[in-house]
Amino acid sequence: MAAPHVVIIGGGFGGLFGARAFKHAPVEVTLIDRHNHHVFQPLLYQVATAGLSPGDIASPIRWILRRQKNVRVLLGEAQAIDVAAKRVTLDGGQSLTYDYLIVAAGADNSYFGHPEWAQFAPALKTLDDALRVRARMLLAYEVAEREADPAVRKRMLTSVIVGGGPTGVEMAGAIAEIAHQTLSDEFQSIRTAESRIVLAEAGPSILSAFPETLRNAARKSLQKLGVEVREKTAVTRIEHETVWLGDERIEAGTIIWAAGIAASPLGKTLGVPLDRAGRVLVHKDLTIPGHPEAFVVGDLASLTDQNGQPYPGVAQVAMQQAQQAARNVIRAIQGQPHAEFHYKNLGNMATIGRNSAIADLGWLRVSGFPAWLLWLFIHIVWLIGFRNRILVLVQWAGAYITYQRSVRLITGNLSRKDI
Ligand SMILES: Cc1cc2nc3c(=O)[nH]c(=O)nc-3n(C[C@H](O)[C@H](O)[C@H](O)COP(=O)(O)OP(=O)(O)OC[C@H]3O[C@@H](n4cnc5c(N)ncnc54)[C@H](O)[C@@H]3O)c2cc1C
Repeated sequence: MAAPHVVIIGGGFGGLFGARAFKHAPVEVTLIDRHNHHVFQPLLYQVATAGLSPGDIASPIRWILRRQKNVRVLLGEAQAIDVAAKRVTLDGGQSLTYDYLIVAAGADNSYFGHPEWAQFAPALKTLDDALRVRARMLLAYEVAEREADPAVRKRMLTSVIVGGGPTGVEMAGAIAEIAHQTLSDEFQSIRTAESRIVLAEAGPSILSAFPETLRNAARKSLQKLGVEVREKTAVTRIEHETVWLGDERIEAGTIIWAAGIAASPLGKTLGVPLDRAGRVLVHKDLTIPGHPEAFVVGDLASLTDQNGQPYPGVAQVAMQQAQQAARNVIRAIQGQPHAEFHYKNLGNMATIGRNSAIADLGWLRVSGFPAWLLWLFIHIVWLIGFRNRILVLVQWAGAYITYQRSVRLITGNLSRKDI
């Protein structure tokens, strides 16, 4: 008899860890992703702020899984899932049938009903996004340097980051360091140290998932770097180089969106109930209603813990859910009932800049330099691929010693109107 066929959609944190969990299992796995590479999203902001190159934080999925002979990797976009026929339709009309399905298609950026803002305020989800942000930010300084009009200069030296979660905080801190340290002696006509960097958060506090002491420490660190932290401040409108915080209009050469994500539209094609954010409501064993052979994990799944709190959209949840889904597939093949998902929270961290971070490990809450060392260590350990770990370590050591950001390239013949 042929081995059961498991189709995994997505080669992000969920898909990859799901595939790996089948290493010694008697199954044939097909993993489909619309990109040929896995991206370590927690370090995307480093690519966007010229600290790392795309190749430092991403690796071909085919290469990552090369030693696992029961996995076939396909480059393609899953467009629809027919759960009754157990079939996935790909771009180009091809289709694949499965015995078991794990959907780990993650999330896309969401502009809260204003998709038109995307052209003015790029977000950070893919390598292409990060390169677009990098080009936009670097070009703003170039425009300011050759511009005689003080109003335009001021605009070009203003950055607004929308969203005070870890990504927004990390971006704001890195942009402040670039302006105040990295570029401070490279321009003749402008003083980059006079740049204005605004971090706007609609909720009562930045980093709402962290305890108050750590939030306060992070706010202080950002302010020390010269970032204006604006809490309880919702963005009401974004246009070309202009953003409205409530009624206040700010002209900004760089506007970055770090405020929201929406579940992948693939979830809808499953034909099962979704939550308000478009995520698929799954049972505690991560299957969808009526289909014990179909699992949804990671950012696309909606599930609450024993206290009724939703699991956060973080890498650890995606990895652990995918591993549980894979174990449940194996249990089903062995004739055993599925087990429920239980999350082991390993903690939360965010970095604010050089020597400054916050970490909440449950049993340990720490900020400043020790948290920053911990942040560095954890990110190196979790990066996929030995080569990437070495590359990132070398780049960070160089940056630490020289205060430089080595990847400040504006490529592709871009001008500001192109991006
Ligand atoms: C900028 C940023 C910073 C972050 N920082 C942190 C952090 O510091 N710590 C943390 O824990 N979490 C962080 N996260 C969140 C974390 O990355 C996500 O929770 C995690 O990636 C979710 O894993 P996933 O497998 O569900 O989705 P993803 O990892 O996003 O993977 C989804 C995959 O599916 C593919 N895909 C999507 N649709 C299709 C389709 N139709 N067909 C084929 N392939 C498809 C995509 O190409 C992608 O490879 C961050 C996220 C971002 C964007």
